[in-house]
Amino acid sequence: MTTSLDLPTWAAETPRGSGDQPYTYRRTPLVEPDWTRYPGFADVTEEQWRSAQWQRSHCVKNIRQLREVVGPGLDERFLADLERDQAARATMAMLLPPQMLNTMVPHLAPSEAGFTEALYADPVRRYMTPVFSDRRTDWPSHPFATRDSLHEHDMWATEGLTHRYPTKVLAEVLPTCPQYCGHCTRMDLVGTSTPVIDKLKFTLKPVDRLEEMIGYLRRTPGVRDVVVSGGDVANLPWARLESFVASLLEVESVRDVRLATKALMGLPQHWLQDDVRAGMERLATTARSRGVNLAIHTHVNHVNSLTPLVAEASRAMLDAGVRDVRNQGVLLEGVNADAHTLLDLCFGLQDEASITPYYFYLCDMIPFSEHWRTSVAKAQDLQHAIMGYLPGFATPRIVCDVPYVGKRWVHQLESYDHERGVTFWTKNYRTSLEATDAGALDRTYEYHDPIHTLPESGQQWWRDHAGLELADAERAARASREASEAQRD
Ligand code: SF4
Repeated sequence: MTTSLDLPTWAAETPRGSGDQPYTYRRTPLVEPDWTRYPGFADVTEEQWRSAQWQRSHCVKNIRQLREVVGPGLDERFLADLERDQAARATMAMLLPPQMLNTMVPHLAPSEAGFTEALYADPVRRYMTPVFSDRRTDWPSHPFATRDSLHEHDMWATEGLTHRYPTKVLAEVLPTCPQYCGHCTRMDLVGTSTPVIDKLKFTLKPVDRLEEMIGYLRRTPGVRDVVVSGGDVANLPWARLESFVASLLEVESVRDVRLATKALMGLPQHWLQDDVRAGMERLATTARSRGVNLAIHTHVNHVNSLTPLVAEASRAMLDAGVRDVRNQGVLLEGVNADAHTLLDLCFGLQDEASITPYYFYLCDMIPFSEHWRTSVAKAQDLQHAIMGYLPGFATPRIVCDVPYVGKRWVHQLESYDHERGVTFWTKNYRTSLEATDAGALDRTYEYHDPIHTLPESGQQWWRDHAGLELADAERAARASREASEAQRD
């Protein structure tokens, strides 16, 4: 962690410019990269590009399609690297809308020299289309990494409805998205199975699942805040989403409804469709008349993803009457884990797209994510480094989602074992797993830094103890699962 006299590396390396500040603000207008630079999109018209249907039907889902779109300029070495990753590491299937592919290497055509290297280094590519050589070989996964690292499934009150915080629930209304992110924290459930991960399947029919959620909320008036997520709500047929949100708005105790959609950035065309805009206006009008805050939460990790179409979609939702569009990004090494990149993104969101920077989460402890994860200490440095530049209400909080606890600001920890990279956290409420657990509020809960960021002595400790610790963790997880099943029965 830096002291007030230690500047973080990014600041020390910054050339001294106007005002001698570590970060120099410059307004940068958004630009839609020229999609015709990709051979596969060379004949695509503006009308096609703006069509949600065209975007959906031209998503890149496999290596053959990527090769066809990018053309011979893409080195076979990259494709082999991707293929190896998909066979042995990828926890998410490939699904890349043209809109997102077009924001990779925005200033270079595949036929130009250096394209493949630029694609390897590209921040959007690094999390949307991971390749084997991106991942760490020493510790590809942390020994404590788990498929459902936040235990959301364990906390289902009804199928897909996670009741973790006292007054809030997460409604996973569907298990798909229009785009799949390599680091998805809900990799246990979301997307199609990969050779590495056989996905959990919902068992109820969608209509029954949503009805059960509404029923639970009607009989649980202590819940006032519902995050409607998935997956991505942009994949729910509009009529079904509108009817679900309309039902939520009829539950007297619900005061906040947040719709989670990365597609606002990945497929802005969806949110610009006439029927979606009209439907959102109906919902926003009802929400306002009942004094409920209806907002959209999106997920943008890098400023390159912000294009004029994204800004247009965000403003269309604000015009329709949603109270706010907010961003929840994920802090990822190789993508955005430096203060300049975070500030560029936040200013782009706030100034150019009317999206309020809100949170950056540490990447969760899921399998094969070690190359993306940062330590809590680095996250604390980054939080310090971005303070004071943005308006207070648009200064994002960097948070750690601590298993069995929930979101905690990165400076809120109780203690820190820097050698083993273990942070200890407390909480002030019981999750649904601990309704009758008298000791839940006195206990500390652990989060683990990536092992490769530790001092050599700490790394050695993990080499000596990982198997033992893992056995303990498995025992604890099994006990917790059995307790929650017994409680549900
Ligand atoms: S959009 Fe969200 S839920 Fe969907 S894959 Fe990405 S991170 Fe996961």
